[in-house]
Amino acid sequence: MLKGIAASSGVVVAKAYKLEQPTINVVRRSADVEKEIANFKAALVKTQRDIEIIKTKAIGKLTDDELAIFDAHIMVTQDPEFTGQMEEMIRNESINADFACQEVSNMFINMFETMDDPYFRERAADIKDVSYRLQCHILGLIIPDLSLINEEVIIVANDLTPSDTAQLNKAFTKGFATQIGGRTSHSAIMARSLEIPAVVGINGLLKSVNHGDMLVLDAIDGFVMVNPEAQDLEHYRNKAKNFAELKASLKIMKDAESITLDAHKVELVGNIGTPNDVEGVLSNGGEGVGLYRTEFLYMDATALPTEEDQYEAYKTVLEKMGKRPVVVRTLDIGGDKVLSYLPFPHEMNPFLGYRAIRLCLDRPDIFKTQARALLRASVYGHLCIMFPMIATLGEFRAAKQFILDTDKELRAEGIAVSDDYEIGMMVEIPASAILADQFAKEADFFSIGTNDLVQYSMAADRMSEKVAYLYQPLNPSLLRLIKMTIDGAHSQGKWCGMCGEMAGDELAAPVLLGLGLDEFSMSASSILQTRKMIRSLKYKDMKIMAEKALKLSTMEEVVELVKASI
Ligand code: PEP
Ligand code: MG
Repeated sequence: MLKGIAASSGVVVAKAYKLEQPTINVVRRSADVEKEIANFKAALVKTQRDIEIIKTKAIGKLTDDELAIFDAHIMVTQDPEFTGQMEEMIRNESINADFACQEVSNMFINMFETMDDPYFRERAADIKDVSYRLQCHILGLIIPDLSLINEEVIIVANDLTPSDTAQLNKAFTKGFATQIGGRTSHSAIMARSLEIPAVVGINGLLKSVNHGDMLVLDAIDGFVMVNPEAQDLEHYRNKAKNFAELKASLKIMKDAESITLDAHKVELVGNIGTPNDVEGVLSNGGEGVGLYRTEFLYMDATALPTEEDQYEAYKTVLEKMGKRPVVVRTLDIGGDKVLSYLPFPHEMNPFLGYRAIRLCLDRPDIFKTQARALLRASVYGHLCIMFPMIATLGEFRAAKQFILDTDKELRAEGIAVSDDYEIGMMVEIPASAILADQFAKEADFFSIGTNDLVQYSMAADRMSEKVAYLYQPLNPSLLRLIKMTIDGAHSQGKWCGMCGEMAGDELAAPVLLGLGLDEFSMSASSILQTRKMIRSLKYKDMKIMAEKALKLSTMEEVVELVKASI
């Protein structure tokens, strides 16, 4: 049994699909020619079929130029100069197919790489790709590719990138397990919005699991069991069934109000990463979107998304949400989220470096495209623009002014812009929590980003499972920062939400309610459970409990107090 961190609730039993690139070790040996040729030809067919499937799945997601790369790969596999020479070498020298493949490929790669014309130099990369795939098939090694999965599996990986997660087909991906990461790493967050059970931060996972092993993934108690005994299988299949039944029973909360027993109303809204996630928010009774992480638009692309691409995405979300508020966060890139096509400076501490609003204020060209797209889309619903990682009032003022200038520019061009969008900020740096009363004079709203606020308050990397014990949102120190932020907003008649993972935590919600939080934004899959809890509590009691919690000294004491109060 391998322990990890339960990141997205559920229990599943399925085979492991290991997302790990195989390493190839090729040595020359003499071999049975006919057998090698047959293996080689079969591998060639499989290679061609893979490329065709990957290309078909990519249609609509990639540009025509990018799709053309797959055609180039298919052409390589059909080129008699290339594959013909391999066959010849196997026959003439009676050697193994993988070795012949490597020899011939290297010859072409060297030839192309030394050419002056950049077009031909790029062909070397095509040959490398095709030859790697071909060699893997010859050797019977599986090259993992999420778009090729066609049976129910649990994905096992070191980590999953947002674009990996975006490719997951929910019909086949029953769950996933990763070696690194914590509850607030981005793979965990995506798992929750896709409602796929996930356990992350499992030490030694890749060493202990083989492709095809039978796995139990228990993302309630946070572990993975490898090749379980029959009675364990039975036990966990039942646990999975009970979990599914519990989930179904919560559906009656979908249209209920988010209101306490003594009639205090709050808003329960969803966090999304892509326009597709809106469906999950609506089907789980979300009253709005409290955080749209727009960086996924940038991370799933091979170049900066255009104004038109962005406008379409924002418009879709706003239209689907109707009159409900939609908080769109401007680009929050950097830290653990980098872009292949945008070089970042090398820094010792990227989480403390050039990222988010710092980058946007430094790159008005990038920020302008997003500001224009957002404001153009503003007429389709209730837009709230939110800046990430604000540390000083100077930054907030500059970002707000940038939006207001863009607004003027668009109107001068005769383009319609809404008159009542809001401009707010995330509070995820302790400095802005402490100075919240001042920020509230100029911001329309706050949303507390506890994933980062905890990381920066505790000086504990949110990606590191070694210091995961310091992820303590219920530590009284954090509760005091949260209280300052909420009180700061209310002192100026502004609203305060929370979009960090803490907002959907069953033990945290009662305290946050008592502290006066107005809006709770969470993974869609947590909304119904939280609504049920809110409806069972008295605001008056939770206020008294929260006051007490602020005076305690450890997270453990707070947890005990909450458990005794709900
Ligand atoms: C946060 O920091 O709490 C937050 C919501 O933003 P992200 O997780 O995207 O950094
Ligand atoms: Mg953050």
